[in-house]
Parts: sequence; structure tokens; C-alpha cells
Amino acid sequence: MIFDLVTIFPDFFTSILEQGILKRALAGGQVEIRIHDLRDFTDDVHRTVDDRPFGGGPGMVFKPEPVFRAVEALRAESPQASFPVILLSPQGRLLRQPVAEELARETRVVLICGRYEGVDQRVAEHLATEELSIGDYVLSGGEIAAAVVMEAVARLLPGVLGNEESRVEESFAPVAVVYDCRPDFDHHGRDGFGASETASPASDLIQSGQHGLLDFPQYTRPAEFRGYKVPEVLLSGNHAEIRRWRRRAALEKTWRKRPDLLAKVPLSGEDRRTLEEIKVSAFQPVAS
Ligand code: SAH
Repeated sequence: MIFDLVTIFPDFFTSILEQGILKRALAGGQVEIRIHDLRDFTDDVHRTVDDRPFGGGPGMVFKPEPVFRAVEALRAESPQASFPVILLSPQGRLLRQPVAEELARETRVVLICGRYEGVDQRVAEHLATEELSIGDYVLSGGEIAAAVVMEAVARLLPGVLGNEESRVEESFAPVAVVYDCRPDFDHHGRDGFGASETASPASDLIQSGQHGLLDFPQYTRPAEFRGYKVPEVLLSGNHAEIRRWRRRAALEKTWRKRPDLLAKVPLSGEDRRTLEEIKVSAFQPVAS
């Protein structure tokens, strides 16, 4: 998948492309990132990309011409193809996991990074295919937002994550996730973490996925740290018990922290009973 970044700070991306998931995706060829300096699409000697807002007010606004030229040059490279041209903006559609999944199905995505007071409205209306926000707050530029989008999308591409299955179980994981079901799956390739000494068939993974809930709490060694103990069940090696505990923990965490998510998750009868128990025990007076 190709990300075309349009920015006035091309060097901004250097460090994030040199480590972690984006580095891996670049090295593996799943992702190609092309950085386009918006100033290369100006036509004056000062390479001007901004101007004062009509109607007055503070700050500067990106002029439409360089942004249009930049995107049109990209479109001209593959005139038959249609691909999303995204203007990063706090006014856009909120980036959530399903949006990342939608973008992961594209072969090319253009990300326009604004700065200053933003970008001339004609870019949003007549050039971009959509505006995308990474959250309800205002950043000083679209570069960090573009990096967030790339990271969220790149890790969904087949072959980018080391353990495909880790996606199945994490927060917001959808019901249908493409994953690799190696029969000898073990979270860490090591024993003793209750993950699987025995073979874990694909159906197990699907059932243990948290589908739209927050992830269950994760622990690693040591089993006791400064008196804080890892829940006993996780050390038990009893996979059915572990799965039940994790599901319950994911339900409880989501109910406490993000009840809005619960409304959208398909819950089984057992889930509903568990949730009732959680609610009842939450309102139980604490025994003295
Ligand atoms: N005046 C604008 C904010 C401009 S911030 C407004 O109030 O809506 C400058 C640039 O930072 C924007 O053009 C956009 O590209 C980027 N940006 C800021 N906050 C963002 C967010 N939450 N999500 C995505 N991009 C953001």
C-alpha cells in the first residue's frame, strides 16, 4: 500500500519511519511511503504556501493552488485509479478502528497535512475525498495525525505484525479479522504464560477475540512484583478458565471505562449473564 504524504515538513517523518511497525512494513514491502514537499508545488521564488485569511483574523491559511497541484500530480501518475485523498483536520470524521480497517483495504492513500490556521476550504470541498480527525483536540499540524493514521493502518496489513493473532485479541478487534492460524500458536513462543502449551485451533482464537471490547488486562513475569500478584487463574494453565476470566475482565473493563462501546458489541447470552454479575458485584457493599 502506498501512502503519499503532502507536507511542508518532509523531515518530520524521518524518525518514525526508522523504527517499529512502519520500519518493518517498509522493509517488508507491505508499505511504501512517499513524502512530497508542498513547497515543490509553489510557483513563486519564496515558495509560498500560505496567506492571510480573507475576512481577517489571526494566523495564516494554506493557499489552495499548491495543494491542488500536488494532489493533481499524484492523480496524474495513475489516472485510471481512484484512491482516497484525505485532508487531516480536527473537523473530519473521527479515526476509529473500523476507519483504519477501511483504509487498510486501499492500495493507495494520500494524506494532506495542514498547518497554521488550516487549509483553504476549497481543498476540503473540491479536492479531498474526505477530512479525517484523530481526535477532538487541535494539533498544530497534520503530520502527527498522518503518522497516527499510517501506524493504525500499517499494522493491519497482512504480514506486518509479528503475531497476526495479537490483533484478534486486542482492544476494538472486529469480529472478522484476517489472521494467520498457525497450529502451534503461542503468544510469545515461550512456555509458562498460560497461552498455549497445546495446539490452539483457529476457532479458539476467534472465540477468545474480544470483538469491539477493550482488551483484557495483560501480565508478564514476575508473577509477584512488590507484593502485587498476577491473577492466579493466568498461571493455572487451564485454558477454558483463562478464556472465561479474560472475557469477563474485558467485559468489566469496557463497562467501567467505555460503556459506549458495549452498546455496539454483539454479546452472547453468557456475556450478558456475566455482565449482570459484574454489575451486581460492583454495587455490593464492601464487606468489612
Ligand atoms: N483552525 C483549525 C485548526 C487548524 S490546526 C480548526 O480550528 O479547525 C492545523 C492543522 O493541524 C490542520 O489543518 C490539520 O491538518 C492538523 N490537525 C489539527 N488537529 C487535528 C486533528 N485532531 N486531527 C487531524 N489533524 C489535525
